[in-house]
Amino acid sequence: MRGQKPDLSETGPGEDEWRTRFSRLALLLRSLEATGKRKEKVKILAGYLKELRPEEVAPSVLLIVGSIFPEFDPRTMNVGYATVRRALGGDRQATLIEKPLTVLDVYKTLTEVAEVKGPGSRRVKTSMVRSLLSRAEPTEAEFLIRILQGEMRIGVDEGMMIEGVAEAAGLEPELIRRALMMTGDLGKVARIALMEGEGGIRRVGVNLFTPLKPMLATPSYDIKEALMEHGGVTAFEYKFDGARIQIHRLGEEVRIYSRRLMEVTPSLPDIVELVKNRIGSRELILEGEAVAMGSGGRPLPFQTLMRRFTRIHDVEDMVKRIPLRLHLFDILYIEGRLLIDEPYSERWRILEEVCPRELLAERLVTGDPREAEAFLRRALEMGHEGLMAKRLDSTYTPGVRGKGWFKIKPAETLDLVIAAADWGYGRRTGWLSNYHLAARSGGEWLIVGKTFKGLTDEEFKWMTRRLQEIKIGETPHTVYVRPEIVVEVDYNEIQRSPHYRSGFALRFARIRRIRDDKPPEEADTIERVKELYERQFEYKAKSEF
Ligand code: AMP
Repeated sequence: MRGQKPDLSETGPGEDEWRTRFSRLALLLRSLEATGKRKEKVKILAGYLKELRPEEVAPSVLLIVGSIFPEFDPRTMNVGYATVRRALGGDRQATLIEKPLTVLDVYKTLTEVAEVKGPGSRRVKTSMVRSLLSRAEPTEAEFLIRILQGEMRIGVDEGMMIEGVAEAAGLEPELIRRALMMTGDLGKVARIALMEGEGGIRRVGVNLFTPLKPMLATPSYDIKEALMEHGGVTAFEYKFDGARIQIHRLGEEVRIYSRRLMEVTPSLPDIVELVKNRIGSRELILEGEAVAMGSGGRPLPFQTLMRRFTRIHDVEDMVKRIPLRLHLFDILYIEGRLLIDEPYSERWRILEEVCPRELLAERLVTGDPREAEAFLRRALEMGHEGLMAKRLDSTYTPGVRGKGWFKIKPAETLDLVIAAADWGYGRRTGWLSNYHLAARSGGEWLIVGKTFKGLTDEEFKWMTRRLQEIKIGETPHTVYVRPEIVVEVDYNEIQRSPHYRSGFALRFARIRRIRDDKPPEEADTIERVKELYERQFEYKAKSEF
C-alpha cells in the first residue's frame, strides 16, 4: 500500500521562542473538555487557531482531533496500553536542560514513534515515549497519553473542527467541508483556509489518486418512505453485499481505494485489468461495489470477500479462488470535469456512456411502490442485501449521510463498536469472547448490549489478538479497548434498560459480521437505536388490531 504523507511545510531554524508551546495546547484541550457547549467550543478553537504560525496549523488541528494522520494515511500510532505503562514506569531520566515542549516537537516525535517498525520496535517506541513524557508537565503528559492511546475524548470531532477552522478563517463551513472531502486531509485544509483564505480553499480541487470520502446513505424504513422523501419517483439500485471501492484511472495507471480510503490496488489485479480493458475513458473516478462470487454467480459472504481485500501475497491464487464481480454505481470525475455537483441522473447517464452494461448496478427508476417491491424481492432472491434509493436530482455529497440516498435493508441490523470484552470460560477459556457493544452519542460510546454469539473459533482468536492490541485498561474479567472495531449486529428486540446508561438494551444480540471496512465514526448512534426502538413499538401497536 502506498502511504501519502500529510502536507506539513518545513519549519525555520532557531526560532524556538516564537513557537507555540505544547502547554498552550494542553490548556486549550482542558478548556475544550470543560465545556459541553458546541458554540463555545468552536469559539475557543477559532481563537487558538488564529494565534498559530503557518507550520503549526496542521499539527495542532490533528493533535486536537486526536488522530495525527489523515484518514487515507496507512500509518497508525499503534502505541498500546502496555507501552504507555512501561514508559511511565522505570526510571525517569532527568533532562539537564528542560526545554519546554512545543506543538511541533510533539507532532514530530509522535510521527516518528508511529514510523518505528520491525524487530525491537516496542522497545524503541517505549523509550521514545518515555523521553517525551519526561519532558512533559502533568497536564501535558495526561493529554499526550490520551493522544497516544487514541482516547482524546474532549468532544471535538472533525465536524466541530471544520466549524472552528471556518470561524477562524472567516469562511463558510461548507467551503471547508468541501475541500476536506476532496483531499481527506484536515490539517492541510485548515492551513490553506487560514493562510490563503477563500481563494485558496476554492482552488482545492479533486486530485486523481487522492480518494474522496464516500457519500453515505440514510437508513429508510421502507420503499414507501423512500419514494415519498424523493418526491414520488426515485432510482432503486440493488444493494450489494460487498465492499465499496473507488477506482481512479489516468491512462494505464489504475488505483483502487477502499471505503476507508486505503489503497487496495495490489489485492485487486483483476479489477485493475477489467477497468483497463472495459472502461471507455482513460481519465476518471468511478465508484462501485466489489462482490465475491460463488457458484452460480451468487454472492459469497462478506468475510470471504474481506480475505481478498487483505491479501498481498499469492494474490494470483486468491484471484482464482475468490473471483470478484464489479457493480459500478457512480462516476465522480471524468476528463478534467468534476461531476459531484451534477445530479445523479446526469452522472448515471455519463456512467452508462463509458461502462458496459454488465458492469453497472441493476437499477429501476420508478414511482410505483408495487414495482419497487418486486424489484426488492428479486434483489433478495439473488442474495443481495436490499435496495438503495437514490434521488434523481441529488448531488454527490462526499462523507455526508443525507437524504439523497436511502438504504432499504429488510433485515434491520445495527453497526456497533466493541468497547470492552470479557474473558470466556468453558470452551471459550483464553478468548475474549463476550463483547460489550456500544453506540455513538456525541463524542461518547454508550453500551447497548453484550453478546458472545455469531463468531467462528477463528474469528474469536483474531478478535482476542486485535482487542489486546487496542487495550486501554483491564480488570481480571474484562478488557477495555479503544472504540475501533465495528461489528454488524442482529437482534431480536430493543428494550428499555435501567441497567445501561444508554437506556436501551438489545435482546438476543448476535454478531453478523465484523465490519473491517467501516470506521467507528460511521457506526450507528443512540438516536438511531431510539428510532428503531420506537418503530418496533409502532409496529407492535399496529399488530394488536
Ligand atoms: P451500509 O454499509 O449498510 O451503511 O450501506 C452503505 C453501503 O452499501 C455503501 O457504502 C456501499 O458499500 C454499499 N452498496 C451496495 N450497493 C450499493 C449501491 N448500489 N449504491 C451505493 N452503495 C451500495
